[in-house]
Amino acid sequence: MLPRPTSPARSLDGSSHLCARCGALTPGIPVGGLCRECAQIVARRAGRIARWVAMGTTTPLAVYVTLTLPATAHARILGAAAVVAWYVITARIARRIAWEWLT
Ligand SMILES: [Zn+2]
Repeated sequence: MLPRPTSPARSLDGSSHLCARCGALTPGIPVGGLCRECAQIVARRAGRIARWVAMGTTTPLAVYVTLTLPATAHARILGAAAVVAWYVITARIARRIAWEWLT
């Protein structure tokens, strides 16, 4: 899960800073943080990029696993688990990199 730049604990100190993306003066965000709207936009774009990256790398892996593993039940289950794990891990890494890249 990505860290949320606007958490309720941070809003208690009463300080306001400029949003790093749109420049709006926003209470409760750290220096260099994003306002709520910009954080949602960046999270949505990062998620979209992560899904494309994950699908782009998982599809060749699934084809490779299908063609190379033997056609037994254990091999198919193991291959499917590896492909799902690859998708999840790749999507999480890509989402984090995209988040850092977009902010
Ligand atoms: Zn903003």
